[in-house]
Amino acid sequence: MLIQKPKGTYDLLPEKARQRYFLEKRVREIFNIYNYSEIRTPTFEKTELFKRGIGEETDIVSKEMYTFKDNEFTLKPEMTAPVIRAYIENNLGNESPLQKLFYICNMFRRERPQAGRFREFSQFGAEAIGSSDPYIDAEMIILADSIIRSFGIEDSVIKINTIGTAAERETFFREFKGYLSGFLKELSADSQRRYVINPLRILDSKVQGDLEILRDAPVLYNFLNDETKRNFQSILDILTQSGIEFETDNRLVRGFDYYTSTTFEFVSEALGAQNALLGGGRYDMLVQQLGGKPTPAIGFAAGIERLLMVMEAKKLLPDSDDNLKLFIVSMNKECKKFSFKLADRLRKQGVKCETDFLGRSLKAQMKEANRSNSEYVIVIGDEELKNGTANLKRMSDGTEIRMNDFDNIKNYLFK
Ligand code: AMP
Repeated sequence: MLIQKPKGTYDLLPEKARQRYFLEKRVREIFNIYNYSEIRTPTFEKTELFKRGIGEETDIVSKEMYTFKDNEFTLKPEMTAPVIRAYIENNLGNESPLQKLFYICNMFRRERPQAGRFREFSQFGAEAIGSSDPYIDAEMIILADSIIRSFGIEDSVIKINTIGTAAERETFFREFKGYLSGFLKELSADSQRRYVINPLRILDSKVQGDLEILRDAPVLYNFLNDETKRNFQSILDILTQSGIEFETDNRLVRGFDYYTSTTFEFVSEALGAQNALLGGGRYDMLVQQLGGKPTPAIGFAAGIERLLMVMEAKKLLPDSDDNLKLFIVSMNKECKKFSFKLADRLRKQGVKCETDFLGRSLKAQMKEANRSNSEYVIVIGDEELKNGTANLKRMSDGTEIRMNDFDNIKNYLFK
């Protein structure tokens, strides 16, 4: 029986892999302009890192982790905890009081696959570790916005909220749970479970019945202290001054326990049900929680598949412009020897070219040259070998250039 790829994974065939390369290259360029440096960490980490970092009661840790049978290691479901682990382990805080890091890599979550939701997927993201300045919150959102806009996506909506500190949330939870206790039986099964283990996440429910109950629920923002509110307002002011349009959404909480104060998300209509393109927030307790010194930090992660889906829907993906410069056709075995050497020489001079490896007829080789969109084609026959001359044919208009110096063929190709 044919062996198929695991559920929730996909193959990136050449055309898609090329688009992916284009996207990653641009993302790197923008991270570099904002002075973020790349970090790479192992594909798997100690399971404990995610339990302690993300939180045991989150969906990701409780239901979706790919943990090896021996239970010690887990394929990374997200990158913030690994980055912070590396930050602490390598004493990056001593090197510079503010570390601005970015990553582009694959993540693994055993979720129910659907459009825009995979079990192995790719994210790019950034973490700024060491500053609690509202300007760095703003920079993070502006950076994410710059990347999204650089791909021509103008209509993604930025949602922003503040969820305060754990201490501020305590009083809210008491009131919130008190309110919800009157509706427990009417809440969705997920929200009932969360009521016990992670009530904040009930705010994230998309179930209609839950939404109606939540309409009159106490609002977290009203339980935050003045400093948190002032800080949040500063971030909003900086964003406004920077010309960023956003919506505040006092129910925006995210799927990880480590978030404190600022949370944000970019959503796109083009995505359907899984409409989140990018999400992030501040996580001022995480470094300490993972054994480092108390260090404020903020970051975001964006889904690469989702970004490409939006670009595809909006026809923003570029066509390939990386065609062959030359296809070398050989009339017979003797000529093939010459063609192979010619291709080798040209490639060493940086010219993208191809020749035949299937013993095809002249006609079939010409057809292949056409199919591959080669800019030029050259036919090497006995005559050409004897005289040291050949015709370079430009495929777009059929014009031919007489060429009498194989050593300098590159000059003819780039005239
Ligand atoms: P998160 O790490 O959950 O905050 O997600 C950040 C972004 O990663 C989301 O906004 C999505 O674009 C993307 N993402 C998260 N989970 C998946 C998944 N299972 N498949 C594809 N993209 C995902």
